[in-house]
Amino acid sequence: MSTTEQPTAEQHVDREPSATVTLRPTGDDEITLTAESYGMAPARVAYGLRMAADTFDVRARAAGDEPIPYGPAAKQRAEVETLRARVAELETETAALQRDKEHVAQAAEARVNGTARRLAEQITALGKARGWSTWAADYIHPEREFVDTGEQAATDDPRPRIEIDLEQPAEPERVEERPAVPTVVDCAHGYGLMRDSCPGCDHETETPHDADPVTIRPTWAKRNMRRCRRCGCVPSHPIHRAPKAQP
Ligand SMILES: [Zn+2]
Ligand SMILES: [Zn+2]
Repeated sequence: MSTTEQPTAEQHVDREPSATVTLRPTGDDEITLTAESYGMAPARVAYGLRMAADTFDVRARAAGDEPIPYGPAAKQRAEVETLRARVAELETETAALQRDKEHVAQAAEARVNGTARRLAEQITALGKARGWSTWAADYIHPEREFVDTGEQAATDDPRPRIEIDLEQPAEPERVEERPAVPTVVDCAHGYGLMRDSCPGCDHETETPHDADPVTIRPTWAKRNMRRCRRCGCVPSHPIHRAPKAQP
């Protein structure tokens, strides 16, 4: 509400004490207020205006309108309303978080089931190929019905111990990494070991020397090989004066 208060006009001795208030509605539910008094203490004028306000509150209620909040009490009510709205917002957020939590739990369960299903199928395939019993697969499969055949009733726990690694469920089986073995190694004379014919190697084949063993896996070979870089022979060859123990 915009308020324009005019100072009390000069008192005229010939006028009876009085006060007038003029309210004019403006566009947006606002009012302008003009108050004047003659020969009255301002405190009495204010008191009278509050009484007038109470009277109009009563009339408003009678007409089905709630009085428009005003003053510190109105401010407090507005703050309470703001807090209520915030509480409602937080409740909504909490409910959403709870739903997220349930979704995460469901997703985790689905992931465990997926891993168990894959394992069960692998066990079944392996068992069929090798002629093994695959009851363990039925046990861990999330949808298959497990029937305890009682074959291992003598043990305390007839169930297989299968650890499911949740960290790596969707990845293909890991191939154990071996240190890379070179496919090409130069001999001591700069030729390709087990590949080129080398006069230096030929010479050392006839001359006793210490073995200089390396591991090599030529592209045509099916396994790693140990050869001496000086002569191309195996380290245990008698031409090596003091063959060293092979690691
Ligand atoms: Zn050589
Ligand atoms: Zn040698």
